[in-house]
Order: sequence, then C-alpha cells, then structure tokens
Amino acid sequence: MSSIGKGVATASIGKVLESKGFSVTAIKFDPYINVDAGTMNPIEHGEVFVTDDGTECDQDVGNYERFLDRDLSSANYATTGKVYLSVIQRERNLEYNGRCVEVVPDIPNEVIARIQAAGKAVNADFVLIEIGGTVGEYQNMLFLEAARILKLQNPGRVLFALVGYLPIPEMVGEMKTKPVQSAVKLLNGAGIQPDFIIGRASQPLDEPRKRKISIFCNVDLRDVISSPDANSIYEVPLQYEADGFGQRILSKFHMRLENHDMAEWRKFVEVIRNSTTPVKIGIVGKYFETGKFTLADSYISVIESVKHAAWFFGRKPEISWLSSETYENDSQSLNELSDFDGIIIPGGFGTRGVEGKIKAIEFCRTRNIPFLGLCLGMQLATIEFARNVCGLKDATSTEFNPKTSQPVIDVMTDQKQLLEKKNFGATMRLGAYNCQIIENTHAFTAYGKAKISERHRHRYELNNAYRKALEDKGLVIAGVNPQKDLVEIIELKDHSFFMASQFHPEFKSRPLRPHPLFREFVRAAIEKK
Ligand code: GLN
Repeated sequence: MSSIGKGVATASIGKVLESKGFSVTAIKFDPYINVDAGTMNPIEHGEVFVTDDGTECDQDVGNYERFLDRDLSSANYATTGKVYLSVIQRERNLEYNGRCVEVVPDIPNEVIARIQAAGKAVNADFVLIEIGGTVGEYQNMLFLEAARILKLQNPGRVLFALVGYLPIPEMVGEMKTKPVQSAVKLLNGAGIQPDFIIGRASQPLDEPRKRKISIFCNVDLRDVISSPDANSIYEVPLQYEADGFGQRILSKFHMRLENHDMAEWRKFVEVIRNSTTPVKIGIVGKYFETGKFTLADSYISVIESVKHAAWFFGRKPEISWLSSETYENDSQSLNELSDFDGIIIPGGFGTRGVEGKIKAIEFCRTRNIPFLGLCLGMQLATIEFARNVCGLKDATSTEFNPKTSQPVIDVMTDQKQLLEKKNFGATMRLGAYNCQIIENTHAFTAYGKAKISERHRHRYELNNAYRKALEDKGLVIAGVNPQKDLVEIIELKDHSFFMASQFHPEFKSRPLRPHPLFREFVRAAIEKK
C-alpha cells in the first residue's frame, strides 16, 4: 500500500547493489492519469520533486537520487497518463503502420521500452522498477502485466520483490502475516510470483513469522527480509545487508559478488545514531493537515535537507511543522518562532497562508532568527522587505493580487500567455538553470564559487523594476541568472542568517553532501543557539 516504504525499499536495494560495485538506476511508475506529478496537490500526493531536466515527478525519485547519489531524469519516471500519451502520439504519427493499437500488448510494451531506456541511458547493471499503488487494485494492473511480460521475455534477468505490511493489532499483540499472504495471492493472480518478500512492520520479523510467510507465500526462508520501522530511512540498506538481501539477489542472478562494502554509509548511519544534541528548525507551511492527520510528505526534500545538514554538524534535527494560517488570526502565536534555532519558509502556490508567512518572515528578520526562504519563501521575503523596510505598503505578488499597484513579484513574461491559455501542465520555469553568485556575499561563502546550477519550479519572479529600490534599502542580490537577468538569491548583511533563493536547493542535497545553503543555515542556527 502507499506510504509503506516502497520508494525507500527500492532506493535501499539500489544502495546495497551499488555498494557492491554495480551501476544502478531506478524507474518509478505511478498509476495516475496525470501525465506528471506537477498538477497534483501536495496534500494528496506529497511533494513534487524536480530533476535537472525539469521533470515534475514523484517524491520517490528524490529518494532514489539521495540514496544512489545520482542525478536522474525523465527516463526515471512515468505515469499511466504519460505512457498512454506517448502511445497515442505515436499512433497519431502513423508509427504503428496502420495496425490496430491495443491496450495489451501496446501499453505494456511501452512500459517495457521505458524500463529498457532507463537502463540504457546510464548503462546500468541493474534497473530497479517501482510500481506504485497496491497489488490488486485496478489502476496498476497494466504495469504488473508489463512486469510479467518483461520476465517472460528475459528469463533469469528479472526478479520480483513484494513490499508487504505486517500489522501488530494492539488488542492481539501479535504480528499477523495474513495481509501479506493475501497480497501474494493477488500478485499470483497477475501471473507474478515474488522472489522476495520485504516485511514492513513496527518490529523485526521473528523466525515463526518468517517461516509462515515462507511456506504460505512460496518463497525461500532466506528471501523473507525483515524491515522494521527505523529511526532513519538511511538505516534501511543496513537492515537489508543484515538479512543478506544483496547477496541473495546476486546469487539468483548468478552474479559474482564484487568485494565492496558499505563502510561510508555505515559511518554515516553511526553519525545519525550518535547525534543527540538537537537543533530545532521550524517549517512554516500549509500543506500539512489532512483531516485529523499531519502529513510531512509535502516537504520531504526540505526535511531531508535539514537532516543532512544537521548530521553534518553531529546534531539531531528536530523539525516542527508550523501552520502559517495561525499567524494570520493570532499575532501572539508568532512568539513561538523564538523557540526555534532557525525557520524555513518553503515553496507553495496560491494565496492561502501567505500573509501568515510574511508575518513569520518579519519576525525572523527583526529578531535576528536564522531564516531560509525557498522559492515562494524568497518571493515573500522580498514582499516583506518591500512593505516594511522600503515602505511599499501595497507590495505583493501578482499571483495573489493581479491588480496590485506595487507588483514587486510579477509573473514572468513568457508565463503570462501560458496562464491565459490555461496551459498549466509542465509549463513552469522548470529544472536546472545557471546562477552567477556575486562575490562578497554569504551565498558566495556558502558555495565557495561563482557559477552554480540549481533546480527551479515557478512562474513568478522578483520584478526588476523594484530591484534598485530594494537594494537601496539594504537587500542584497546575491545571485542572478545571467541569461535572463532573474534574481535567484537574496540575503541580508547584518543578520545571523537571512537568505532566500528562487530555486529549490532541497532537490540537490545528498546524505553525505548537504546542500551549501542548508549547511550554512543550520550552522547559523547552531551558533545562534
Ligand atoms: N507560486 C510561486 C510561483 O509560481 C512559487 C512557486 C514555488 O514555491 N515552487 O512562482
């Protein structure tokens, strides 16, 4: 089922194989009709991750990048919508030579072609394929069908792993294997027998549970992998190693084990375990609440980036979700921001919660609290500065008020028409763009170089007509896109740390290489403390 950790499982298998000396890539298939994740609300689908080539994809691709430490692309992500769209486009171009194009085999064939292309693109030894959704549901059937055919066409070269959940009902107090047994039956119905079962549970799978699964699900006892809840997702590859997962995969493929190990990763996990002194970071957002539950998935890359940076300093990341709307109705509640060592305003769309975020930024600016703004966070920091320092009382973004007299943030010229035509899908300023860092800025100190490339996802930008007014009052423009003269980084001089970027640094942070902006932000947070 969703959120049980298929993405982390896929990424972790990748990590294990990669640490044994193999080249690994991964592809995620999402069962939605949406052509990409870009049009999905984060509350429903979690974060929209962006690759260098501007693909708006599922957050799992972010996990693959972080675990494999490899930049991925459009080759590594597809939805039902995308698969159908390419088949239909090909049909329109007469590429099927006039024959009848059918759901089976043409859709599975397109899926298989994409899997093969993902492997070829980087000459990978292994392609990990993650099929989203739940076995037995209607929506992902064609992907399972593709996987079945893939194995048929490539005997000995395809293995299946089922990630299954083993509940421990409180009133029973015992781990139950039945849901996994049922899932395997459903998978069998699709013509697939799993080679491995990854047992997700709050506790490790014991011997009796493993035996039960082995017998009832028709897998070797050694191929039932215990994957209990971990303190950190980065421990999962080590769980797999402890159960000999990597070696089992290689022996099933009749491949020789190269003699690499996970020393660096183990050391990293040790650091995580030993980081006990907290650094407290608040994220002021609005994509948290879903009914009675709180969701962290919408900001997953931001959260992981904070963690990477905190562990870099041997600190324990303590991250809190703060709802921006609270600050709009109740100014007193802003005082809670003083309890944090640093505050982040992440990306976002639409008017809801915006004024609360602006208040939070003012609080951080005037009280010297380390602040990092990401995309919308930079736009709002600019608005706050324009209103409260430059005296431009009407300052806002045309995203929130198209008729404002002081559009300090304005829609990019090439975006205007797209919006008028309601041409929303995959049309933002997306993916990697160059940025020139200005010397003698905090940003320059952080990056240690002048030329950088970062990932974007936005339609609005700092309006250059207001640049001088802002700079005259002390706003520092620390990074600019040289091709289009777009402001990419702003910062303040006399502040513990006040920086915001139009791009999303969170998409490029890696466990062992925290992003320079997050690193410096967390450094300031620790020093402030
Ligand atoms: N809504 C803003 C824009 O479109 C910011 C987008 C974001 O934060 N990713 O420019």
